[in-house]
Amino acid sequence: MDEAVIKKDFIHEIIREDLNNNKNNGKVVTRFPPEPNGYLHIGHAKSICLNFGIADDFNGICNLRFDDTNPSKENEEYVESMKQDIKWLGFDWEDRLYFTSDYFGKLYEYAITFIEKGIAYVDSLSMEEIREYRGTLNTPGKDSPFKSRSIEENLDMFEKMKNGDFPEHSHVLRAKIDMASGNMNLRDPVMFRILDTPHYHTGEKWHIYPMYDWAHGQSDSIEGVTHSICTLEFEEHRPLYDWFIEQLEIPHPQQIEFARLNLTYTVLSKRKLIELVENNYVSGWDDPRMPTLVGFKRRGYTPDSIKNFCREIGVTKNESNIDLSLLEHSLRDDLNKKALRAMAVMDPVKVVITNYPADLEDEIEAINNPENPDDGTRMVPFTKELFIERDDFMEDPPKKYFRLSPGTEVRLRYAYYITCTDFIKDESTGEVKEIHCTYDPESKGGQSPDGRKVKGTIHWVSAKHAVKAELRLYDRLFTVEDPTHAEEKDYKEYLNPDSLEINNKALLEPGLASARKGINYQFERKGYFIVDPIDSTENKLVFNRTVTLRDSWAKKNK
Ligand code: ATP
Ligand code: MG
Repeated sequence: MDEAVIKKDFIHEIIREDLNNNKNNGKVVTRFPPEPNGYLHIGHAKSICLNFGIADDFNGICNLRFDDTNPSKENEEYVESMKQDIKWLGFDWEDRLYFTSDYFGKLYEYAITFIEKGIAYVDSLSMEEIREYRGTLNTPGKDSPFKSRSIEENLDMFEKMKNGDFPEHSHVLRAKIDMASGNMNLRDPVMFRILDTPHYHTGEKWHIYPMYDWAHGQSDSIEGVTHSICTLEFEEHRPLYDWFIEQLEIPHPQQIEFARLNLTYTVLSKRKLIELVENNYVSGWDDPRMPTLVGFKRRGYTPDSIKNFCREIGVTKNESNIDLSLLEHSLRDDLNKKALRAMAVMDPVKVVITNYPADLEDEIEAINNPENPDDGTRMVPFTKELFIERDDFMEDPPKKYFRLSPGTEVRLRYAYYITCTDFIKDESTGEVKEIHCTYDPESKGGQSPDGRKVKGTIHWVSAKHAVKAELRLYDRLFTVEDPTHAEEKDYKEYLNPDSLEINNKALLEPGLASARKGINYQFERKGYFIVDPIDSTENKLVFNRTVTLRDSWAKKNK
């Protein structure tokens, strides 16, 4: 194996060391363990790339396990979306699709073992009392009066809990550890609670559900996970997970924590994302402004751009806020290589080539992707009347304006040199209505006929052939880097009112009428675009802007 690959972060180093010591008989098993209570976001992508990536790097395997211990928040829609997202990123769990809820029986048996060993008890305090008895970081908690129940009584009551003989929340099963522990997680944590909610995967079978802390480590152990990689907030839970596993005398996965991904100009908490969706601040989980993987996909992000970004930012133990422009940089890098070029005029003004025959329709050869010759060329119609961008013409240009203005010559991309001879204004608005130019027939292909040079090259479409489209110009969802911690205001106050601008006047080269879904385009000089997979129809073309060609926010922030 490539040393550079193995050394790339502290987790790789730990695993390499384990392999050198033949720990776990040289096996590496990881897992990605989402709770199906929302859609996956870019933070999850970091964890997916890490877990599946490690399996790849060390000849190991990575499981997909749904950590579904909370029936009131989970559902099948989330399960399916998560599976699709992971596949979209390009990872494969093969036949290793698991559900914590399939281990409920095992987790129940483990709990019985605990009761029999005298290290678990049924507590009948109310939820609120349990909280009070827990104490605080500075004061020890105190024992529940039910902590001294006999093993027989505990076994009997726990079975009744399972059978649905008690009302919701009337009892819980707790581990008997230490109510004075400096680690709050060790103050007799709850293992099972009574819930009458049916579960999307186990139906009505269970009346008790394991707590996440009782389920997670044991589920890893059941699956033979060797390296249980999770985010830093679980560091404080590790002593508890270790203790559970030691008491049960079952295989012991090694938990390793890393810093979660935070990204500027967005939020990554599932609770907040659900709020944005449910209260219609966005059009859905797949709104192209959402940091969800379905959102990124619809926006036109490529899986490679996300994976490259995850590789680039690496894995550390330090919390940080990664700049969104880094992700966009990775995106532009990938799209520059892959996107097909096309011409689209977003704010059209008409150009008439006065010396071009009125009835002539020529075809101009244009390169599909200068970065990839395999993408070939296409023919674009050229006629007497064209459209160009309104801001590619200036009546009275400042110095260093190299585009079209009275008397100047520019190149029409792939077509001809043209010189502006005249223009007409709308009397009432003062707006330029029509620009008159002559073309040099000797400059076909945009090549200089005699060595003379032009400084500007502008894009264009043939008026007769242009197709209309709706362009959805997306921008950042929030106006500040850290909407969650900016001043004390609610994060929603920082939603960017200009995060979606709709352009209905754009005119595109005709080939784009049959643009296929899922194909990335670069509208030359304008940005990267993709057909909207949901709203674009035969009657109405809709394109989403994936990203502009350059980072306009970098300038603003200076
Ligand atoms: P919650 O627990 O609030 O529902 P979560 O974002 O932690 O939300 P999980 O489904 O528990 O969601 O996450 C699945 C896996 O993805 C976990 O291993 C978790 O540590 C990891 N993960 C979640 N968010 C991030 C993030 N921002 N960066 C890196 N990894 C993350
Ligand atoms: Mg979590």
